[in-house]
Amino acid sequence: MAEEIATIESGADVLHLDVMDGHFVPNLTIGPAIVKACRAHSKLVFDCHLMIAEPQRYIESFLAAGAQMISVHYETEPHLQRALQLIRDGGAKAGIAINPATPAEALTTAIEFCDFVLVMSVNPGFGGQKFIEPVVPKIRHISQMVRDRGLSVEIEVDGGIDEKTAPLVVSAGARILVAGSAVFGKADRMAAMQSIRTAVAVSNA
Ligand code: ZN
Repeated sequence: MAEEIATIESGADVLHLDVMDGHFVPNLTIGPAIVKACRAHSKLVFDCHLMIAEPQRYIESFLAAGAQMISVHYETEPHLQRALQLIRDGGAKAGIAINPATPAEALTTAIEFCDFVLVMSVNPGFGGQKFIEPVVPKIRHISQMVRDRGLSVEIEVDGGIDEKTAPLVVSAGARILVAGSAVFGKADRMAAMQSIRTAVAVSNA
């Protein structure tokens, strides 16, 4: 993993780590021990996306492992506000993640207590899925909610991001883009990241 991280270290803004538990999503990926091991090999901001049941039980472990951004899923955390506060108390940015089928209205109360909203543009659990287009108006809706309330909440989008979909989500208000296959599936990762940045810049020019 250290070798993989080194290929993107100087081109990425954030390293997004997908944590899956085999319960909330069928796959099983990494836990805090691996995050901590990676921490020694990167200066990037570590963004831990907790696709796990009972995320609140593990927040302190991920903070201790060096996470600077942590998102918990609306669909799996009944005490969202408390979870967000735990993340903030630990000095990290707190995010609410929502699945493609979860409407923007789900954020009505909790959005006041987070630093970012992670909008899933594929169903969580597997890489390499196709971008779900109807999330674009949802991003626009959340962006409007943030502006209307004068909040400084950023919108992150995760799933199927490449040079075609990136301009769509940025124009809807997203500012943090998670690209998996579109970067790690290419031989030249620096060029892959640059082509996504260029596609956004061209379409916004
Ligand atoms: Zn993710």
